[in-house]
Amino acid sequence: MFIRISVAMVVMLCPAGASALAQSQSADPSPLVLFENVRIFDGKSDTLSASMNVLVRGNMIDKISKDPIPTDPGASTKIITGGGRTLMPGLIDMHWHAMFARPTIATLLAADVGYITLMAGAEATDTLMRGFTTVRDVGGPSFGLKRAIDEGIVTGPRIYPSGAMITVTSGHGDFRQPFEVPRTLGAAQSRGEQVGAAAIADSPDEVRLRVREQLLQGASQIKLTAGGGVASPNSPLDVSTFTEAELRAAVEAAENWGTYVTVHAYTPVAMQRAIAAGVKCIEHGHLMDDQTAQLIAEKGIWLSTQPFPDELADAFPPGSSERAKAFTVFAGTDRAYELAKKYRLKTAFGTDILFSARLAQRQGELLAKLARWYTPAEALAMATGTNAQLLVLSGNRNPYPGKLGVIEEGALADILLVDGDPIANIKLLADPAKNLVLIMKDGKMYKNTL
Ligand SMILES: [Zn+2]
Repeated sequence: MFIRISVAMVVMLCPAGASALAQSQSADPSPLVLFENVRIFDGKSDTLSASMNVLVRGNMIDKISKDPIPTDPGASTKIITGGGRTLMPGLIDMHWHAMFARPTIATLLAADVGYITLMAGAEATDTLMRGFTTVRDVGGPSFGLKRAIDEGIVTGPRIYPSGAMITVTSGHGDFRQPFEVPRTLGAAQSRGEQVGAAAIADSPDEVRLRVREQLLQGASQIKLTAGGGVASPNSPLDVSTFTEAELRAAVEAAENWGTYVTVHAYTPVAMQRAIAAGVKCIEHGHLMDDQTAQLIAEKGIWLSTQPFPDELADAFPPGSSERAKAFTVFAGTDRAYELAKKYRLKTAFGTDILFSARLAQRQGELLAKLARWYTPAEALAMATGTNAQLLVLSGNRNPYPGKLGVIEEGALADILLVDGDPIANIKLLADPAKNLVLIMKDGKMYKNTL
């Protein structure tokens, strides 16, 4: 009787305590999934393993063994007969914009935010169905989408959000029209700022404010645009934007929160200034030179670069300056990867697909495109184990603590089952609908055609 009363009191006073109680009373806390007879790409190696068995318990990889793993007759274990297929870590895209990948620029600038968010939700589902179980969002208001995915409201990848990309007046990400300047103190923000796509800051103090606003909302890292960009109307490629003092203010504010700053930068000047200010990662770097690559190597900075497809320029009208800038950047792709290899830079893979539902469907194809510069095994390791090492820089702001990007005991269970050997044929990942027969994120199966 006493016990009953106290349980009721716990339930009344503390709903969280009540659900913990309900959980502890259930006999089978973690569902088990056993993959039998799979060859493993572990996220690091250059060959597949021999036939193995992998047990997933809850959201973790519990056991990997070449001997049969006995199943507990008392527990309900889902058995997946691998048939010698390849089991590999879920893919990671380190340069993604969950809110901007699918809509056109015109839609983004004019449409209702609810519509754009629903579009992003549908795209997030497709992203996961392409085998990308994690994305690092390097600019855009993806906090709500991330929350909805984490709560199971929408199906999608893990999102490491940066929040608004922080820029200067006239910088990459400042999409204002000439009639919108001058900006006066206390005036309404521009559309891009209101929706959290970008934040404009023109002094160290303003930079600190904008960085801290992103951290308040749950940013796992901070993104600044240190130089000119392709898609912005007022931003020539050659310009450097933030001063070193402004960049340092961002680095300080991020590091006080245990995380880091990454910057958008194409040119040696923009890259070198960012590195001098303490930035830990460079996005793009397509126009870098030997000297800058050497500096990146010496300082152990990450290069997060992308094999841009020419079709990315189709977002911009023929004859526009944006289109011309796009081709200037694309022309640097070969050189950037050559320098990355020459100086053995810590290189992350991402796609930066923007403004195109059609291109977004080709996310896996862009990964396969890395085979132009790397062996397929190197490319796969970059998109899994290596990318995950960069995610770790988020420190205590990491929204998904635990090991990602690898298949090993104790790692989070983000798993793909590929019908074939992606090391022999990396193009299998370009057709995920056909070749990914199983997609698991955090121990939950989102696709299983076996
Ligand atoms: Zn980008």
